[in-house]
Amino acid sequence: MTYILALDQGTTSSRTIVFDQAGQIKTIAQQEFTQIFPKPGWVEHDPKEIWQSQLTTLRDAISRSGIAPQALSCLGITNQRETTLVWDRRTGEPIYNAIVWQDRRAEQTCVRLRESGHQALVESKTGLRIDAYFSATKLHWLLENVPNARTQANQGHLAFGTVDTWLIWQLSGGKRHVTDVSNASRTMLFNIHKNTWDDELLALLDIPKSMMPEVLPSAADFGHTDVDILGHAIPIGGVAGDQQSALFGQACFHAGQAKNTYGTGCFMLTQTGSHAPSSQNGLITTAAAQPTGTPQFAIEGSVFIGGSVVQWLRDGLHAIESSSAVEALAAQVCDTGGVVVVPAFTGLGAPYWDANARGTITGLTRGTTMAHIARAALESIAFQSAALLQAMNRDALATGAPPVNELRVDGGACVNDFLMQFQADLLGISVIRPKVTETTALGAAYLAGLHTGIFANTEELSHLWQVERRFEPQMSREHAASRMAEWEQAVRQTVAR
Ligand code: ADP
Repeated sequence: MTYILALDQGTTSSRTIVFDQAGQIKTIAQQEFTQIFPKPGWVEHDPKEIWQSQLTTLRDAISRSGIAPQALSCLGITNQRETTLVWDRRTGEPIYNAIVWQDRRAEQTCVRLRESGHQALVESKTGLRIDAYFSATKLHWLLENVPNARTQANQGHLAFGTVDTWLIWQLSGGKRHVTDVSNASRTMLFNIHKNTWDDELLALLDIPKSMMPEVLPSAADFGHTDVDILGHAIPIGGVAGDQQSALFGQACFHAGQAKNTYGTGCFMLTQTGSHAPSSQNGLITTAAAQPTGTPQFAIEGSVFIGGSVVQWLRDGLHAIESSSAVEALAAQVCDTGGVVVVPAFTGLGAPYWDANARGTITGLTRGTTMAHIARAALESIAFQSAALLQAMNRDALATGAPPVNELRVDGGACVNDFLMQFQADLLGISVIRPKVTETTALGAAYLAGLHTGIFANTEELSHLWQVERRFEPQMSREHAASRMAEWEQAVRQTVAR
């Protein structure tokens, strides 16, 4: 038996999972780290704490698994995307904290870019909308605001990286400055059609090309762990950003295969194969995890408030003691009694895009109880996800691409059977929960295993991926359409405010 290490560096915690060669979990180690909020709208992480927490879980997972380092054949990395780091190549010292994807400090730069008419250019090269979420304007902010950064960068002393790049730098003892295509595609500096850094975009934001890491396919030679770290050098063979890694871990290798992750927010990605669609429905195009040098793409949309609507029921409304109690509360009533919850707590994302919208509850009557609201809150997660999938299918239809005919699910809220059934009912397609729902880490393990030859090809991975439960649509299509219309009506009332 050989084993694969998957490092899953997330926004709030670092984790390491040891997988066996059948893709089954052997051990998980996890450690949270500090969230730094220096000003409203700013979110930072300490790069050294990211690394130390990751290293602690790596060592912990290995020692608890009882596996000798020699039996660990390779290592894969998946990570929070877009988060931006800069360090000095000579010393490895970060010049500033990591600026986290949620951070909005670069908004003004984005406004300027949009106002000077660059949206079409950026979209055509990167597949993205100009937004402070992506790395480019965060990196620009660092160069403009950290004392001496611009001079040091111009002299070639500074290195930029997303979190994968930072971890590989640390793991390899400063020998490798590399990233993979899926992470590169989230920087807004990468041409996803050519798989190269884009000189025009780098110039637009005044970023020296010497700062940029080498970009490799997602299964490739990313270097080795330094012998001093584990007493044994382990090849780093796979890297992908968290959502693309989850798409890969769900074995969505063919155009039209889709996954939705039900976490704090929801992230839906559909594999589009060699075709890079340009969305007419407010979605973004991104590089999928690419095990070879052949470009492969995905279309992506996200729901800002997904599972966190359940946290709001728990912590804001005190309607439940724990997240898992929501299913029983919702089951106390057989329908929402006409109540619709639109949890636009931070605005609405795709396909509505209204940053100023705020949440509403419509359809309240004298008979409304907390159970109706809890049920409607759960339904809102499925309604928002259904609206995303419908938008993806509209894009597919316009380009002759195959529509999505089943949805693979993961994330903390996918354990909720009511939610999964309602999702299948709304969409009219099967919703499939796999046995291993740690698909983000699994994707990185699959990629590393492909590179090192543990797995022959993606065909073999498709066979390893196993179904835990299929939720088949039970609602009539007419009823599903009328429920969806009820949701859209409530959204219109939310947006109109
Ligand atoms: P993230 O990775 O975004 O931190 P997770 O994938 O760990 O999130 O999922 C956590 C989310 O899932 C929380 O928002 C929580 O409220 C929600 N959640 C957990 N259990 C349930 C449940 N039984 N029903 C609905 N939502 C749940």
